[in-house]
Amino acid sequence: MPIPFIDLQAQRRRLGEPLEAAILEVVRSGAYIMGPQIAQLEAALAEFGQAPHVLSCGSGTEALVLPLMAWEIGPGDAVFCPSFTFAATAEAMPLVGASPVFVDILPDTYNMDAEHLDAAIEVVKREGKLRPKAVIAVDLFGQPADYPAISEVCRKHGLKLIADSAQGFGCTLDERHPIFWADVATTSFFPAKPLGAYGDGGAVLCKDARLHDLLVSLRVHGQAVKSDLEGRTFEHDPKYLNMRVGMNSRMDTIQAAVLLQKLSIFSDEIAARNRVADRYAQGLSDVVTVPKVIEGGVSVWAQYTIECDDRDGLAAHLKAADIPTAVYYPIPIHKQGVYSGYPVGPGGLPVTQAKAERVISLPMHPYLEPDVQDQIIAAVRAFAGRNA
Ligand SMILES: *Cc1c(COP(=O)(O)O)cnc(C)c1O
Repeated sequence: MPIPFIDLQAQRRRLGEPLEAAILEVVRSGAYIMGPQIAQLEAALAEFGQAPHVLSCGSGTEALVLPLMAWEIGPGDAVFCPSFTFAATAEAMPLVGASPVFVDILPDTYNMDAEHLDAAIEVVKREGKLRPKAVIAVDLFGQPADYPAISEVCRKHGLKLIADSAQGFGCTLDERHPIFWADVATTSFFPAKPLGAYGDGGAVLCKDARLHDLLVSLRVHGQAVKSDLEGRTFEHDPKYLNMRVGMNSRMDTIQAAVLLQKLSIFSDEIAARNRVADRYAQGLSDVVTVPKVIEGGVSVWAQYTIECDDRDGLAAHLKAADIPTAVYYPIPIHKQGVYSGYPVGPGGLPVTQAKAERVISLPMHPYLEPDVQDQIIAAVRAFAGRNA
């Protein structure tokens, strides 16, 4: 049997009958849109993620767009983000008419370099063409960005901070979730993410009640929410009173039901992912560059990403042994045609560019058996030894 890169079937077998019963319950209830599982999931995510307010939504991409809309970020505004990330991080800005400004990463964690962020903000301010408004930090491959340093830069310049935790939901730094430092934390429930559904979905975590209210409105076509209706009376159902331009970004009830089941074992899965990561580090640290987690950080290991001089040779060698690998990300966003016209921080992004040529990710999931992992480790060692 080929080794899976991510084994969602092992998780499904573990969750078993209650998972299928939860789906069937939604099917039988008929409450396909905004059924009671949606509010249950939002409450459970708030508790898990140490956030006062959680909004479920249609995807991790929309989870980024919704707060930008709520803050009325648009044409002429700059939002700073890394280029070494999934396209959705940067895509949120043009979707609201704003401009991404790309910032370099740290060479050991692959997460945003707070000093380069500060320098990029200074340059944009000096040039005066764009107004700096917000920063999107990414918890790449599952580990928290340097939030103490990044949030300090945001405070200094008066910018909002979003934690794009699509890969890192559940990660902590000194036992705190990213929302401790950020105004908003977002995640994705795409099936392959650490906490994934059986389809698309996302969430926005925030601390401000008024912002949450706005997000509730924007999620459903700018519909009137409680704060819009205070002290006013209507002849018609206020459901059809649209206060602002929003969108449809509801999560399906079935996905909420699936996620409630998965959330019940998520802490245990994070522990298992860390055991797998430790085992990889023990088996590989003398032959390739293994990942380094920020001091005080706990990663949820969306990916286990190593560096190797002959990355493509290693991929071919592992493929011949039926071991799948993936490269995240071979082309940094600022080098992709449609994004190449947006500004980058001063001095360009040398770390981003160097890493894009060296990284390769190995199979990683909570159900990776030790004997299978040993095969992977042995195959990497055989290649690295031969090429040392
Ligand atoms: C997956 C991902 C997203 C987008 O999530 P979708 O649910 O696929 O829209 C955004 N940012 C990062 C860093 C991601 O990995």
